[in-house]
Amino acid sequence: MTITIRENSEFTNILQKNLMSRHEEKRRRDNTVHVSDIITTTCIRKQYYSRKFPDLDPLTNESIHHFVRGESSEFVITKLANLGVAQADIEMDGIVAHPDIMNDDQKGLIVELKDTVNGRRLDFYDDTFRSYLRQILYYLVMTGIEKGIISIRYNIKELNWIKSDSEGDYFFRPFKAKDVGIESWEVFFPSDDIAREILKNEMVRRKNLFLKALEDNDVSILPRLIDEGKRVRCPRCPFYDKCMNQDSETSEAREMAKERDLLNIRGVLDFKNSAVI
Ligand code: SF4
Repeated sequence: MTITIRENSEFTNILQKNLMSRHEEKRRRDNTVHVSDIITTTCIRKQYYSRKFPDLDPLTNESIHHFVRGESSEFVITKLANLGVAQADIEMDGIVAHPDIMNDDQKGLIVELKDTVNGRRLDFYDDTFRSYLRQILYYLVMTGIEKGIISIRYNIKELNWIKSDSEGDYFFRPFKAKDVGIESWEVFFPSDDIAREILKNEMVRRKNLFLKALEDNDVSILPRLIDEGKRVRCPRCPFYDKCMNQDSETSEAREMAKERDLLNIRGVLDFKNSAVI
């Protein structure tokens, strides 16, 4: 008798295929507008193209891997945390959202869980963190709840980027690199804060614009990314050629892209860099 061990690519293929179809099912095809479609820090044009031209952005092994990691982490943490309802359906003026955890007992709480393999630690000055922040602020506006938590799970020890060249990307790990683990940030948004109304108007305006573009098959009314967002994200965008070389952008959309972000106005936010772990 001999114990035999062979690579089983057939099993891997079946698993990949099933995961891919599950991921594909979760892709949005209809005209329902989600919070993630209209957040100012994501590209609203990219959200449009993903709906209209999904074939230009085929699923890859990497995207399936991210999907599985995100889904499994969220599933386990929402079960273990036992803090409230997972993926509750919330809606405001035709905009829908599903916060990871929502507890509307007493004063209420909304938790958004994030999971990253990025070595960089995030804070208020980082675009990714600011998109998490806006997402939770939108949820707080939609529900009237005052307190939110952004909880970020880091899967690798801290690693800082130095440069990129034709050979690849260069990073270094500081001697006192932060370990793998979770950092959580509390956001308190008073129910009588005037910024709630401003954010609500921003959301409804972007939702109406996004819906109009979808219904009229007209991407030109949606603003392209500008500045840092354009520099970092556009070169890697699967819709780059269509967006930049084939489709146009109205002057109103160009002006909209340049509008000042509410969160950049002095006094709107009070940020202190001391994470709760
Ligand atoms: S190329 Fe840039 S602006 Fe155009 S859809 Fe992609 S991310 Fe958005």
